[in-house]
Amino acid sequence: MQVQYDTDVPADETPSSCPYCQRPLGSEELVALHKGLDHWERLDDEERETFYDAYEDESEDLRTFRLKMLGILMLVYFGFLFTYSYFSANPFM
Ligand SMILES: [Zn+2]
Repeated sequence: MQVQYDTDVPADETPSSCPYCQRPLGSEELVALHKGLDHWERLDDEERETFYDAYEDESEDLRTFRLKMLGILMLVYFGFLFTYSYFSANPFM
């Protein structure tokens, strides 16, 4: 059974695609991740090793992204806090 994905590929793009279901993906790393998640039983040892490497890289990228977003959230929070404390009246004077 062929699964249809709701994917729109521009005419001048030549994406990598999954050899098992022909799903177009942006890079070979995404193909390796997709094959590991959706076609695990059909992979040989080398493809599974490629999946593990891609998964590890993706996990590291996600960890970095989360740390950056946490930093930005803290900057926004303390920015509003200090702005509020600067412009609000002191109730003890
Ligand atoms: Zn596939």
